[in-house]
Amino acid sequence: MIKKLLFTAALVIAVFTGCKKDGSSVGPLQGKDDAAFAVYENSFLEGLWKLNPDWATSVGYHKYDSLLVIPNDQSRDKMVNFAKVQIDSLSRFEVNTLNDANKIDYHLMQNQMESIQWNIKQLRSYQWDPGSYNVIGTFAYILNEHYAPLAKRLRNFYQRMANLPAYYKEAEKQIKNPVTELTSLAIEQHLGGVGVIEKDFADSLKKTNIPQSEQKLMLDRAHVSAEAIKGFAEWLKTLKNDHPRSFRLGKEFYEAKFKYDIQSEFTAQQIYNAAVERKRYIHREMAKISKKLWPKYFGTKARPADSLDMIAQLIDTLSAKHVQPGEFQSAIGNILPKLTAFVKAKDFVTLDPTKPLIVRKEPGYMAGVAGASMSSPGPYDKDGNSYFNVGSLAGWPAAKAESYLREYNQYTLQILCIHEAIPGHYVQLVYANKAPSLIKSVFGNGAMVEGWAVYSEEMMLDNGYGNDEPEMRLMWYKWHLRSVCNTILDYSVHAGNMPKQEAITLLTREAFQQQAEADGKWKRVSVTSVQLDSYYTGYKEITELREAYKKKVGDKYKLKEFNEKFLSYGSAPLRYIKDAMLAKGGN
Ligand code: ZN
Ligand code: ZN
Repeated sequence: MIKKLLFTAALVIAVFTGCKKDGSSVGPLQGKDDAAFAVYENSFLEGLWKLNPDWATSVGYHKYDSLLVIPNDQSRDKMVNFAKVQIDSLSRFEVNTLNDANKIDYHLMQNQMESIQWNIKQLRSYQWDPGSYNVIGTFAYILNEHYAPLAKRLRNFYQRMANLPAYYKEAEKQIKNPVTELTSLAIEQHLGGVGVIEKDFADSLKKTNIPQSEQKLMLDRAHVSAEAIKGFAEWLKTLKNDHPRSFRLGKEFYEAKFKYDIQSEFTAQQIYNAAVERKRYIHREMAKISKKLWPKYFGTKARPADSLDMIAQLIDTLSAKHVQPGEFQSAIGNILPKLTAFVKAKDFVTLDPTKPLIVRKEPGYMAGVAGASMSSPGPYDKDGNSYFNVGSLAGWPAAKAESYLREYNQYTLQILCIHEAIPGHYVQLVYANKAPSLIKSVFGNGAMVEGWAVYSEEMMLDNGYGNDEPEMRLMWYKWHLRSVCNTILDYSVHAGNMPKQEAITLLTREAFQQQAEADGKWKRVSVTSVQLDSYYTGYKEITELREAYKKKVGDKYKLKEFNEKFLSYGSAPLRYIKDAMLAKGGN
């Protein structure tokens, strides 16, 4: 998991197939020039932020922190019109004359604008996803991120609340036939988050020397705002909804959303088919390893006839090797230097010692999220620190901690660190931040980011990490099945009709997950769509690209050279990295 980057991708987004761009409006060729394109990019972003202050705040652009836009027809029309104008402006550039970096930016901008049009005109989640009106995240961001003095942030917070009651009045007008699952989630999140406005804001005010009279005004407005949020949740609770929309996206919307969000060269259906194949392959490999390992752990005890049962028993046994709850954070601290040493010894990629990864205890406001995650500097703060947030298991009930530690056992804890940090997300982000494009940071491609992390796990193991132990490989396959089955699950549920029980069986029996993990995944798939495809899709495309690249360069192939060239394009969609890396002469 990676914060921030995906947060931005999750907001408003995406299209009108082939709207414009058919060569009809060639116009003056001002765009022959990369310099002109760079100027245009800046005005494009400035315009985008003005219309989407929440989004701007979340990427670290703070000029519009004090604004909250009422989500009505008028503001949506403005956004659609903005997209139309930008698509037109883009069409005046001759994309093939731009350099590789700008070419990719061009495609990203075009995709984003088409995506916005599609979201507003076709998908219309503002009518059926009450969660899309949750404004609390941005308030929490303003409160918790230390980008400006506290008093300044609190005054923006205060101004931003001015429109809040009107905002929720409008939301009630827009919602038509909300999805039941999304409605429950929205109620939960609004009631769960209102403390930011009701309590955290007041607590923070006490730490400033803002005059008492001014503080009084600020607190009064916070009170009114909190009431508006609770009122919205109550309204949702009592909303009469005879024909709720299904939580399933449907095949047509699914393919379109996949196209805009993942930007793969494949369709969702093709990726799904490949994932099913991959699952079969992994099961076969796991069975082979398990057969070999069986006597070591079970002696002469008979092997279960069913190979999935056999694999499950071995995984269960290996999962017992784990650290104690109090050692969780220090164990992670000990793994990272080993990974660094291995990456250096194998010369996979150059590590930049001036951008260290800082391991820290998970900050309070993140608590309850995953046990470990990366926080990377945002697009407008590239010199900021990278943090590896590690949650403490202190105070967890023993059974919950045990289950968690079995999941993140001696083997998978190492894989987790590879994925999140070295040479996974952290290393990729250091490279991405060297690619100077703001566009790529803002519209960062989730499939590339997650795909690289998954690819790097396999690269480590393929080169002998973990002493080539079959146990390590078996546990990686289990971990990898999560990515593969995420794709199978997401597609089957949203483009098909997979019932809950079948989904749980897929996850527990075929991906060897615990019941609690499977239940959590079902909940996630019933309130999100497409994002779960990014891990496997990205992995598949990078692996295939490496094979094609090997063929192209022949004897001159070096893994390090491939990795560094690949990373140099930033968090761009894989299809465009592929175009650049496989282009004739583009070596
Ligand atoms: Zn990840
Ligand atoms: Zn145990």
